[in-house]
Amino acid sequence: MEHVALNMDIKTDIVIIGAGPAGSMAANVLRDAGKSVVIIDKSNFPRHKSCAGGLTPKTISELPFDIKALSQHNSDKMLFKFTNGKTVDLNNELGACKMVIREEFDNYFFNFVIKKGADFINSKVEKISEDNEGVVVQTNNETLRCKYLIGADGANSTTRRLITNLKYKNPVFAFEGLVKRENSKKDVPTKFVFNKLGYSWIFPKQDHYNVGIGNLIFDPSCPKPRKNDLLDFVREELECDQLEHITGFPIGTEGKCYEPSSKRMYLIGDAAGFAETLLGEGIYNAVISGKYIGNAIKDSEIPDVVFEKYTDFLDGMKKELALYNRGAKVLYKKQRMSYWMLKLFFGRRFMDGYSTGKTLTEIIKGKYPFPSI
Ligand SMILES: Cc1cc2nc3c(=O)[nH]c(=O)nc-3n(C[C@H](O)[C@H](O)[C@H](O)COP(=O)(O)OP(=O)(O)OC[C@H]3O[C@@H](n4cnc5c(N)ncnc54)[C@H](O)[C@@H]3O)c2cc1C
Repeated sequence: MEHVALNMDIKTDIVIIGAGPAGSMAANVLRDAGKSVVIIDKSNFPRHKSCAGGLTPKTISELPFDIKALSQHNSDKMLFKFTNGKTVDLNNELGACKMVIREEFDNYFFNFVIKKGADFINSKVEKISEDNEGVVVQTNNETLRCKYLIGADGANSTTRRLITNLKYKNPVFAFEGLVKRENSKKDVPTKFVFNKLGYSWIFPKQDHYNVGIGNLIFDPSCPKPRKNDLLDFVREELECDQLEHITGFPIGTEGKCYEPSSKRMYLIGDAAGFAETLLGEGIYNAVISGKYIGNAIKDSEIPDVVFEKYTDFLDGMKKELALYNRGAKVLYKKQRMSYWMLKLFFGRRFMDGYSTGKTLTEIIKGKYPFPSI
């Protein structure tokens, strides 16, 4: 994809920084409403993103396209293993997750919104300022002027650093890699293994397993997961030494602290810290936050109204994230209790809830957490 321009002033309704699922979703809503949109990303597409690529049904139902052609596996069987070695098996024929490869999924979504008329600039953001008329964004090549700025540049967000004082209190990190199916004698379903480092996963794809390890609740007294821990996990669970393409990335989980710092500049997705801390699902909250900010901006030219609408959404998001945090503290700190709770009470409810596209608040409290659009 080419730059739209070099070394010149660009005027647009909205600048979106970051073309992951959050940025692409916001662009989709805004282009459907006829707004001019420029997306800036430091990477060109397709690009790699460290991610296991699990899409829950609630995520799929929000997407503006069919993912059939991108889907690699349907997780109708899930296995949860605890530190005591005990396992809980959960099945639902609908599947609690569909597996994609992030590089393909993000590239598809990105091109989908480019075809709808979003412009793309392959640059890095360096400076952001605001005046009476709007927001000025400076990259290493261009200066852009817009009415609204959306920061969707992920867990290491430069936008967040430039426009807020948000500091990491839960700096969590995960590694992922690939094991070719032909290199493992095992046939494993979608599997989560809880351990002293946090948790590890095996996500089946057509010709490989995506495997990973990460901590979701930061505890300075606990060892941090390392690449070698992932290799040990692969040896134990897949009886194999051949682990390829290991990459790691932080997960943005600080959403409860996020407050918009301006009525014209908003963060979404991992940049805002919207990934959950139970199993590290972040794509749904990336997509849904993109949808809500897109709708808030498309419905009104008045910053006060946009602010109010996005703040309503944030209230629901923070409650949803708090519910995940409470669950995570039990899951990672009280393993024995979690095992029995999953086995006897919550396992079936979770599996059925996830498989039928529910949010956690709907599963636990029976109500949708976000305002109606
Ligand atoms: C190992 C791992 C496994 C995961 N597995 C899952 C999973 O199975 N399911 C799930 O739901 N979630 C998973 N997550 C979380 C998920 O990856 C994120 O929540 C999700 O990608 C957030 O989407 P986003 O659009 O907010 O940000 P991202 O997908 O991170 O996209 C951000 C974009 O911004 C661009 N960018 C960054 N900095 C700049 C800059 N300065 N200027 C311009 N552009 C910039 C990047 O190039 C990128 O394209 C996982 C995370 C990790 C680390």
